[in-house]
Amino acid sequence: MRTVIKYLLLPFLISTSALTLHAQQDFLNITNYRVYYGWAHNYPQDWIILRRFENQGKDYFLMVNPQTLETKVNESSFYQAKPMTLAETRIFFKKTPYEKALNSVEKQSVAIQDAGIERGMPTETGISLTADLCPSHRPLDRRIFTTMIAEFQKVEKPAPIALSVSGMWMLQHKQDLEWLKQLRNNGDIRITWVNHSYTHRVSKNAPLKTNFLLEPGTDINYEVLATEQLMLKNGLVPSVFFRFPGLVSDQQLVYKITNFGLIPIGSDAWLAKGQQPQAGSIVLIHGNGNEPVGVADFIKLLQSKTKQIANKQWLLYDLRESVDEEFEGTN
Ligand SMILES: [Zn+2]
Repeated sequence: MRTVIKYLLLPFLISTSALTLHAQQDFLNITNYRVYYGWAHNYPQDWIILRRFENQGKDYFLMVNPQTLETKVNESSFYQAKPMTLAETRIFFKKTPYEKALNSVEKQSVAIQDAGIERGMPTETGISLTADLCPSHRPLDRRIFTTMIAEFQKVEKPAPIALSVSGMWMLQHKQDLEWLKQLRNNGDIRITWVNHSYTHRVSKNAPLKTNFLLEPGTDINYEVLATEQLMLKNGLVPSVFFRFPGLVSDQQLVYKITNFGLIPIGSDAWLAKGQQPQAGSIVLIHGNGNEPVGVADFIKLLQSKTKQIANKQWLLYDLRESVDEEFEGTN
């Protein structure tokens, strides 16, 4: 019963908050950007502070709502704040979906590929769509968005999508980024911005255990924090999620990411690899033009569901909502 009520309420909560995100400013002069943990209170909501920075003489927090996984940036002076270590914060917010998700990811962190949360609730009739924007010389694969908007405009507007964005992609695709922001501002799509590292290091020949972010010499601080700052500069609010380039990680790297307060997101349905999506799947496609096969599979998938979509029997789920729902009732 509780689940049903939550299903009814959550889309409302998230879409109203998404409206305020449209007004997100571009932080063009960020200084002193740093990892900073604590508890921020502004009645009636408690937030976990993850980062702190200054911009043009004002002091800001990047915060997460540990109940809904929604993030936001706001001036620090609006809150009663209590600095804490991450460990203290995690104990204090132990019963929240946010802490439970971090904890679950750490417990399953040994795998070299696809660590992190890889699916939502199997009771969901539909999927969470994630599209990766790794560095690429090709333009954004806009078919993903135009098809999604066309299929869902009558039943789910804005349609949710999580975009895993690399710093290098943002630098090289200003116009594509503006186009995406336009769709967001028009209320056509609701974007969860997932950190996909800055340089997205990759080697053609190295084995997985020394490839991607496991390459020797990787500066993980830079990979995480420079990407967040570039998102903020472009008016994007970083979410609490991280996607490993190549979906490759080891236990140590998973802990490095959770120590930034970030939740790694895997996938149980990388379409271009022939993995079939199930109810509640976190589907992975590439939006950077490098994997047209996966995008074609996604379009086919949507077209095969046209009837169910029209009857609201097959929907797209906001990644925050999926992960949140997954950990809501667990201990
Ligand atoms: Zn990638």
